[in-house]
Amino acid sequence: MHQIHSGLFFRCDAVRIHFSGQVIDTHCHLDLIAREGPSAEQCLLEAEQAGLEAVVQIATDLESSRFNESLAASWNGRADTELRLYWTAGLHPENGERHDLLPGIFKIVRENRDRGDLMGIGETGLDYFHTKQFVEEQKEALRQHLNLAVELNLPVVIHTRDDRQYVKGSCQAVTDTLRMVRERPGLTGVLHCFTYSYEEAMPFVELGWKISFSGILTFKNSHTLHEAAIKLPLECLMVETDAPYLAPVPHRGKGNMPAYVASTLHFLANLRAERLGESPERVIEKIRENSLAFLRSKDNIIPRAPA
Ligand SMILES: [Zn+2]
Repeated sequence: MHQIHSGLFFRCDAVRIHFSGQVIDTHCHLDLIAREGPSAEQCLLEAEQAGLEAVVQIATDLESSRFNESLAASWNGRADTELRLYWTAGLHPENGERHDLLPGIFKIVRENRDRGDLMGIGETGLDYFHTKQFVEEQKEALRQHLNLAVELNLPVVIHTRDDRQYVKGSCQAVTDTLRMVRERPGLTGVLHCFTYSYEEAMPFVELGWKISFSGILTFKNSHTLHEAAIKLPLECLMVETDAPYLAPVPHRGKGNMPAYVASTLHFLANLRAERLGESPERVIEKIRENSLAFLRSKDNIIPRAPA
């Protein structure tokens, strides 16, 4: 029986999940885990033992983009594992003023565009939480990522964070992001580590985007997120760890690992089972399907007609 979480918003005490073992962590940072914890290879082996079938390794700068390229080449060439490693190249908005890094990062994207394990571009986006010092620089970096995504028919991994936890109507980063996305019809992507409400998610969902929940979903006081996870259509949902950050309950307070993504997935399946009566097994299977479709979406993006 899966460890049960309890909260004010809902009660989870009776849902039994027959866990299929097919789980995907759609967003993690193995290079950052390895700074103080186990190596990337060790994390991937543990993830496979925990039942994961794929992990997506996300870049934050030029160094990590290079790291991802070589890790994927060596890992996916191994004969002793079935776990698939997908990866991205991109510049995190907290490094958004480092425009000098963009040519090198974009070169990696272009050179690997047709490699099966390059999933997309990112993470990029707007972060007004840590500092507003470089807002214009962040916007320019985001613009360049989005333009390259359109040019190469690649999905984009978006980080968006605002001033406060969540204050309705005062979410400038996600509003600015939506405007830039809407200017580029056909662009597809994911809002990773989603921390907003149903209202902020839906305009992206209507454009075919995915919404990815991190371990924050499992925190007792994440009422707005719980509500969004119930109201959003199942077709748009994915889960992630964002490891080494934000370990889900019951691992909270420890360093996060891709293997822990199952806790967030189970929480989400329990939540929808209790509140919507959906089969938890079906929720888990559908999230797997959503994730696989997203990982392969570059092959299914319909090229735009030349202008
Ligand atoms: Zn991240």
